[in-house]
Amino acid sequence: MVKIERTNGENAKIAIASLEKEKQKKNGNYNASEIFDAINEIFHGKCYLCEQRGFYQVEHLIPHKGNKDLEFEWNNLFLACPHCNNIKRDKYTPILDCCKVDVDQKIAFRKHGYWGTEEYLEFTALSGDAETKMTVKLLEEIHHGSTPQKQAEAKILYVKIVKSMRTFKNYVLEYEAAKGQTKLDTLELIKLELKSTSEFTAFKRWLIRDAKEKYPELQQYCQ
Ligand SMILES: [Zn+2]
Repeated sequence: MVKIERTNGENAKIAIASLEKEKQKKNGNYNASEIFDAINEIFHGKCYLCEQRGFYQVEHLIPHKGNKDLEFEWNNLFLACPHCNNIKRDKYTPILDCCKVDVDQKIAFRKHGYWGTEEYLEFTALSGDAETKMTVKLLEEIHHGSTPQKQAEAKILYVKIVKSMRTFKNYVLEYEAAKGQTKLDTLELIKLELKSTSEFTAFKRWLIRDAKEKYPELQQYCQ
């Protein structure tokens, strides 16, 4: 999870107007195509919880439970994958709002180990507030699963994280090997991978943050 800028561009304005209209209807739809398209654009096609890209659904940060104000509130609509949406439901609330908070400054996202059994993902709360603690619990269930089906889905997600991190680490190694020479291409790739538009950005940023002494010059791209 990383901070996502909820921009108010043209598509967002159209979506907000549509939400107002849908709210007045008896069976209004917060998932109308213009609303979905605007949300999909803002979240870069990524699930805001696990940061994998795919074909997703609009979900409510604060469960609406039939409350129309919450159901059709633009700032309460997020893009989530079925795996995360299904785990979150009404069980995990309140959690951090990634459109307002730098989540990866409040939680450390770490992938430990290499090649096999000693590998694991770790989520560390860096602040003691209730939302941060609840978000850590949610992330743990998303990434470890609590039922056989959810464990199988978490395993598939894990493989995607490992692959993405491997590519990212290779860029960093290439950058390291070329230090002192002008190797701008790799640096540009690293910068792209550390942006909120990339998949699994929080893990990549923490890889660089944990190597602060080795890569002081890369810290500025972890914002
Ligand atoms: Zn997800």
